[in-house]
Amino acid sequence: MKVLVAEKCGFCPGVRTAINLAQKTLEDHDDVHSLGHIIHNEDMVNQLSEAGLSTVDSIETIKSGTVLIRSHGATLAELDQIREKGLKIVDATCVLVKRVQKIARQLNEEGYKVVIIGDKNHPEVKAVVGFAEDVEVVASDEDLDKIILGKKLGVICQTTQSPDHFANMIAAIARKGFSEIKIINTLCRETMARQTAAVKLCRQVGVMFVLGGSHSANTRKLAELCKKHNPQTYHLQNWAELDKSCLFGKTTAGVTAGASTPDDVVSEFVRNLESYEPASEKL
Ligand code: SF4
Repeated sequence: MKVLVAEKCGFCPGVRTAINLAQKTLEDHDDVHSLGHIIHNEDMVNQLSEAGLSTVDSIETIKSGTVLIRSHGATLAELDQIREKGLKIVDATCVLVKRVQKIARQLNEEGYKVVIIGDKNHPEVKAVVGFAEDVEVVASDEDLDKIILGKKLGVICQTTQSPDHFANMIAAIARKGFSEIKIINTLCRETMARQTAAVKLCRQVGVMFVLGGSHSANTRKLAELCKKHNPQTYHLQNWAELDKSCLFGKTTAGVTAGASTPDDVVSEFVRNLESYEPASEKL
């Protein structure tokens, strides 16, 4: 099988920094906790857990030690709670996510109602919401009908949304009543580069694989985009999840990976796929 890998895929700088920081913190300290999964990738989470990282859902359960803030960030309330308990903080929030948090706060201070285009349940968005008092999160046109937008709007976006979705939502917001709108592009360039490379590649291949955790927003977005251009697109965590019947009759496959997918998951998948011969298997 001929296998082509997207020009840009896999770990982004924000995730790489978070993992390096986690590994360094585990080397230097014994009692290290991550509030939620450090990244949305089970393989990597398991590796770090074996190295001693404990993942917790709530700060209440942490009695002592160091708390690692993941690349998606934490809310101001969570950071205050951690400090009040006297716990040490190692902040691995991605610089681009920090920028969005700062922008949300500034917009609010300037009198804008902050409108975040994104998924209200995603940890990055939850953290950004905590930085503004007057704030709404909208995922779709329908969400716009459920909220009162106000007169002065400051529109930003979850870093991993696609530029097309950002543009469509801005157009939908523009059709609503307001007197002033300020739009700040908070999309992550790394994510956009991965999306562009994935779409380009999926158009050239018979079958397209998007590797990454099922909870990873940027991986799901990559899969969604590729599926639009190539219906033979599969979102998998790793090689073990591949149902080989989808390879039948295919000669060329494309592979991309989300920003939180480790390099070894991608290389193992590519290696196995290159040496796979569909005709030799009973499908
Ligand atoms: S995808 Fe972009 S915003 Fe998210 S962690 Fe990576 S570099 Fe930062």
